[in-house]
Amino acid sequence: MLRRLREVMARPVSAQARLDEIVVLIASNMVAEVCSVYVLRADGRLELYATEGLNREAVHLTTMRAGEGLVGAIAESAEPLSLSDAQAHPAFSYKPETGEEIYNSFLGVPILRGGNTLGVLVVQNRARRTYSEEEVEALQTTAMLLAEMVASGELQTIVKPGADIAVRRPIALKGAPIAEGIGLGHVVLHEPRIIVTQIVAEDTQREIGRLEKAIEEMRASIDQLIESSEHAGPGEHRDVLETFRMFAHDRGWLKRLREAASTGLTAEAAVERVQNDARAKLQRQTDPYLRERLHDLDDLANRLLHHLTGKSLVAAREDIPDNAILVARTMGPAALLDYERARLRGLVLEDGGASSHVAIIARALGIPCVGEVANITTLVEQGDAIIVDGSTGEVQLRPQADVESAYAEKARLRARRQERYRQLVDLPAVTVDGVEIGLHMNAGLLIDLPHVAEMNADSIGLFRTELQFMLAANFPRTSQQYELYRAVLDAVPDRPVTFRTLDIGGDKVLPYMSTLDEENPALGWRAIRIGLDRPGLLRSQLRAMLRAAEGRDIRIMFPMVAMVEEFDAARAIVDRELAHLTRHGYKLPRGLQLGVMIEVPSLLWQLDELMSRVDFVSVGSNDLMQYLYAADRDNKRVASRFDPLSPPMLRSLKLIADAAVAAGKPATLCGEIGGRPLEALALVALGFRGLSMSPASIGPVKAMIRAMNAGQASRLVNALLARRGAVASLRPQLMEFAQAHDLPL
Ligand code: PEP
Ligand code: MG
Repeated sequence: MLRRLREVMARPVSAQARLDEIVVLIASNMVAEVCSVYVLRADGRLELYATEGLNREAVHLTTMRAGEGLVGAIAESAEPLSLSDAQAHPAFSYKPETGEEIYNSFLGVPILRGGNTLGVLVVQNRARRTYSEEEVEALQTTAMLLAEMVASGELQTIVKPGADIAVRRPIALKGAPIAEGIGLGHVVLHEPRIIVTQIVAEDTQREIGRLEKAIEEMRASIDQLIESSEHAGPGEHRDVLETFRMFAHDRGWLKRLREAASTGLTAEAAVERVQNDARAKLQRQTDPYLRERLHDLDDLANRLLHHLTGKSLVAAREDIPDNAILVARTMGPAALLDYERARLRGLVLEDGGASSHVAIIARALGIPCVGEVANITTLVEQGDAIIVDGSTGEVQLRPQADVESAYAEKARLRARRQERYRQLVDLPAVTVDGVEIGLHMNAGLLIDLPHVAEMNADSIGLFRTELQFMLAANFPRTSQQYELYRAVLDAVPDRPVTFRTLDIGGDKVLPYMSTLDEENPALGWRAIRIGLDRPGLLRSQLRAMLRAAEGRDIRIMFPMVAMVEEFDAARAIVDRELAHLTRHGYKLPRGLQLGVMIEVPSLLWQLDELMSRVDFVSVGSNDLMQYLYAADRDNKRVASRFDPLSPPMLRSLKLIADAAVAAGKPATLCGEIGGRPLEALALVALGFRGLSMSPASIGPVKAMIRAMNAGQASRLVNALLARRGAVASLRPQLMEFAQAHDLPL
């Protein structure tokens, strides 16, 4: 049957004529009285596109909702349905125009591609009969040919106006905003799928042989990968490979592959057939563990396809257009750095959230990025037009012209705003009443450093040293740390740098460090706690910093300090290291300042003791908010449940600002809120005179500061905070103030 179908496919006839021939052929081969093809439309309805056996007049007239009737049920579940007494089935719904009431047996299969349902293929018999496994299998194989036909766009010529078919329709998706900016371009799949075009085998035995050989090769390559990662020690990576190995030997999976090939498919099409089923299940699975396993199976099928075709697993560099939007399920941070920055317009991730490592790199590179976009890798095809809005989390796949021009306009406006910020670069951040605010930059990688001069930041106010550790394959040695710190100091010779010691634990895990199973990692063994319990680690880092700063100024601060004694202990380690360097004849830093991050609320009641000890403090508002409100910063459900502009948070910040002024110690803030204009307005009003933020935020914050009056803002915020009464947030009042004073937000 497949061979005859292929002949029909090759014949130069119209799309409708071809479909009509196909249904006749299938019906006669399956000895069925009816064969019908339903195609899924963009409006979610299934339309009868061809039939043998039902009333021809119903073609292009009969439609049903997904979920309605047996055909709708198949489209929704993406699974075959075989019934000997169809009319007894609770989902059976009768369409009088088709005249199908006389048929009792029913077999329907989804027309799938990439796990997406494109339509439904049905055969029916008058007699009550049970369709065999082989018949179900054969119909699914046939459906693959139809999928190819639908996906190729051939049906476009017979689409009724206003009844577009679902395949390649525009889709608006929503994910988590990760990195600001708008990108318009074309999809580049980070792990390109092999498009199987040769579906019908010339020689089935030969295809089965090819399949067997590819499976053997794939198993051997996985074994090899596991062996080569053996030295890296246990870790997540290894577990993934072990799971792969397990699946690669899974009998059920292999059996399904062989069965698919023995129905007359090429080896590649057989893999795609089985992969389609897994993908369809994946889209309907919500259990995270099962989803992960289905993803593993999908990855494995990809590997197998690559073994069969001998093509590389990653996108070939030369195939990347110069307006590429990368689409990936997940991606390692190093992989993103492998792409040529100039060609990338955006990044869309299926799984990665805002705190994933690749998200950090995307922000550093200024690539608009959206994460947590469900099923994106199965919805797109290589080369599809796509728009990413990293500020709102919107992704527009195959956008219509008006949507595209709206986004293009938005991107132009943004560029114009950026141009205005560029004009502010050399102007100071001074309020209209003459209060000078230090605008500093957060960094963590070498790729961040050019931004310091570009944005004319006053200093690096927070250098997150853990990023080097998170990106490395194993613990960076003291010498490697030294090299990085030295490069940072060299890159910004005329501005201060504040290095923060290792802040790992919580959400920041090192792949090569065995993690404890902690019930509450955010409240667990992390940051300075690890540093003090394992002084070897902290010592090696401090040594690298102090040596890198020979003859120069350096500022070092400690994260997650909860009591002042921890700072004393950390300072003692610094002193020991200084003594060590002196003893060995190293040149010491010219000036050394030691500070503390205020991000654990317990410090709010030790401010006097703290201020008398430190040279400076910097508020980590991300964590301070998380601990003050007991709301996990990475948990979507609660992360934005409470407002940093609420009285409890603002009063906490005021305590810090007042204590710093009283003690004559500088207090800056380096959490995310420092980079948002309205929040920055409140911070200046509270008395903060230094804010550290991502490079992209410096322009907008500076524009706001240059327009605001600090004295007025201060009076407003103090008056509002002095009031008693239940107020969830001062945001509305601050917004009103900003509007009344025409402040750019
Ligand atoms: C913070 O907690 O606000 C902060 C700046 O540090 P991190 O985001 O790295 O925890
Ligand atoms: Mg923090």
